Amino acid sequence: MKTKSLVLLICLSSSCANLPTLSKIESCSFPMDKNYPGGLVNYYLKSNDSDLKNKLQMGNLKFTICRDDDFNANILVPIPLTYSKNKIEVILNNELIDSIGIENKFYRESRIQIQNKDFVNPPSSMQERIEREYLQGLTAKNTLSSSDLKQTKMVIPVIGITSSEFGVRRFINGKPRNRHIGLDIAANEGEPIRTPLDGKVILIGNFFYKGNVVYLDHGNGLVSSYSHMSKEAVVMNQSLIAGEVLGYVGSTGRVTGPHLHWEVYFLGIPINPEIFVN
Ligand SMILES: [Zn+2]
Repeated sequence: MKTKSLVLLICLSSSCANLPTLSKIESCSFPMDKNYPGGLVNYYLKSNDSDLKNKLQMGNLKFTICRDDDFNANILVPIPLTYSKNKIEVILNNELIDSIGIENKFYRESRIQIQNKDFVNPPSSMQERIEREYLQGLTAKNTLSSSDLKQTKMVIPVIGITSSEFGVRRFINGKPRNRHIGLDIAANEGEPIRTPLDGKVILIGNFFYKGNVVYLDHGNGLVSSYSHMSKEAVVMNQSLIAGEVLGYVGSTGRVTGPHLHWEVYFLGIPINPEIFVN
């Protein structure tokens, strides 16, 4: 009785809607040994408890459960870039059963100059638009569909040069800004951008910061986005197969030159796209 009320309490405080169980995944081995901020913990637990998701806590982080069979569970935990602890406490039925070490990962600083003052400090007339687009992005990246995730290995969406890695600490005109939560690939204007993994278009827009942007839902909490495109090549709700062209490299939104800004989210948490590319 005491356990039940505690689980209910946990559910109310951290939203049980965030604790899905992956369905029909080909292999639970996807991203392994990426135990650092911006990575993804893949923790193995021998358990056949069908209610495991409600009895388990991974610190206070969001997680999901992947099962290859009824007796084994892989607990997948995206680690936010801002996570500052050196471990995750695994709690089962209110009992501490294990502790997972989290490595400290170095992310470099990047300092850029942007001449267009409106992009550095947007005018107040733009605030409503920026807020609206932020909320659209927030909804898209937290999409949790039950569609089958056959596999998670991604192909690079565009051939080019990595111009800014995931996680860098950015300074614009000398002032600290949000961390870089995507991977920048510099390429020629008009270069085709290909879908890295089967998915469905869940948002298309022309955003103040992101320029022409497309969000894809790959199922089971895995979402990706493609920013600064010259134009998109897809429509809302379109289903795409890995390799299909979704748009073209451009320099729309807040940019210093033509490139693709590629984001990957798991359960709404931005993680390094590179960990999915072999
Ligand atoms: Zn970027």
